[in-house]
Amino acid sequence: MENATSSPASVTHTIDGLCDLLRRLHPQANVELVRRAYTFAEDAHRGQKRSSGEPYIIHPLAAAYTLAEMHLDESILAATLLHDVPEDTERTLEDIEREFGQDIASMVAGITKLGKIKYRGMERYIENLRKMFLAMAADVRVVFIKFADRLHNLETLHHVPPKKQYRIALESLEIYAPIANRLGMGDMKGRLEDSAFKYVLPKEYEWVSTLARTTAAAKETYLENVMDTTRHIVKDMGVHDAVVQGRAKRLYSLYKKLLKNERNINRIYDIIAIRVIVRSVGDCYAALGAIHSTWTPLKGRIKDYIAQPKPNGYRSLHTTVFCDEGQIVEFQIRTREMHEANEYGIAAHWSYDEQKLKKQPKNVPAWVQDLAIIQQELADKKDYLRSLEELKIDVFHDRIFIFTPKGDVIDLPEDSTCIDFAYAIHTDIGNTAIAAKVNEEHVRLDTPLRNGDMVEILVDKSRKKPNSDWLETAKTRHARQKIRQYSRSGLRSWIQEIIPGSK
Ligand code: MN
Repeated sequence: MENATSSPASVTHTIDGLCDLLRRLHPQANVELVRRAYTFAEDAHRGQKRSSGEPYIIHPLAAAYTLAEMHLDESILAATLLHDVPEDTERTLEDIEREFGQDIASMVAGITKLGKIKYRGMERYIENLRKMFLAMAADVRVVFIKFADRLHNLETLHHVPPKKQYRIALESLEIYAPIANRLGMGDMKGRLEDSAFKYVLPKEYEWVSTLARTTAAAKETYLENVMDTTRHIVKDMGVHDAVVQGRAKRLYSLYKKLLKNERNINRIYDIIAIRVIVRSVGDCYAALGAIHSTWTPLKGRIKDYIAQPKPNGYRSLHTTVFCDEGQIVEFQIRTREMHEANEYGIAAHWSYDEQKLKKQPKNVPAWVQDLAIIQQELADKKDYLRSLEELKIDVFHDRIFIFTPKGDVIDLPEDSTCIDFAYAIHTDIGNTAIAAKVNEEHVRLDTPLRNGDMVEILVDKSRKKPNSDWLETAKTRHARQKIRQYSRSGLRSWIQEIIPGSK
């Protein structure tokens, strides 16, 4: 079985190993820079120990390994090795800038600004979230380093006191993993979640990991046979060099799915899915055809995330079939490039050849840029609880795709209603909406939408203002803002009307 936990904390990392890895992934990389950063950091941290009693340098080194495995370039690795130097040692940011230049120093400064975690209830949580968003909008590379830093701290968490374990793990589940997910970094998200899960919900973790282990053991031979058959049928379809492998579902994501399915393991079909990795998009569809002509697909379970990627960029074909002996098996088909992008997300754009030393690639998602604006609203303390709820819904919820009657696609957070859809199309449509049609059926505006719905909004142009009840119904920040804005300006003009001279 393939498992993405490629560098467990128990592995002893060395600088030579790191340099070899970098050289193997990027033959033209400046390995000397990484070595110099290591020597500088090791010297600065000399005499300091981790809670485990090991020399401090193992921590930045482990973090750098994580990012090297994601194919990131040497300047990010150097900054990672140096990330705790200004905060914890005699050497300053100026020293780093003098030695390593402005770009690396600015990444280290970004990490230092994110600071140490001192979780004190809701305010601290919001402050941390805000800082992460600011850092991300300024330079996403800083957030990669923060993820790798946090991941190693989680993997060595058994050395710290239980109370601290819990709050670090909880913060990782609530802030870091959702951000990694939103950045399309599936591998990082899964690793952060699984290493935090253990400390946040220890009993549930035990239950799920035992369940996953026994299921995997029971299905091993069966799945080996199905994979063998798959290799043959895709080859017969003319798809060459396909890599067919089993993928075990991550524990925390399995846990969340179990909660949605009354804790019934028999209702979950992708505990172990079969992954088919091929050379081209054409081969993806050919492989899908081969699978469907061998085994009958379950109705409504074919998902084409190639034609319509998930909002975080995830691309793959998914199908669930009645397989040999009537067992249900999920297949995930993608090209090698899609596979890497699914695992590393936005970080894939920093791969050495593609974007060397460029701070923001052109295709950085618009919502990352929006964060700079949104965090301003979070800074406005009197509204922070409300803003936070809305922001969490917009940024962290799973997204659904809704179609307009013309076939345009609008993506909205899960649980959005017709009102959210109306405002997503146009403020005027929202303000004058009176009812909606979902898949040709007349419904009320507060009807929740489901992925793939086709929605038409019925308007009455004589209608002047949004209904203030809609604040209860609307889920997105955008719609709620528009409704509130209108009710504020409506209120103002009403006051002006009835109290002459009140302008
Ligand atoms: Mn650190």
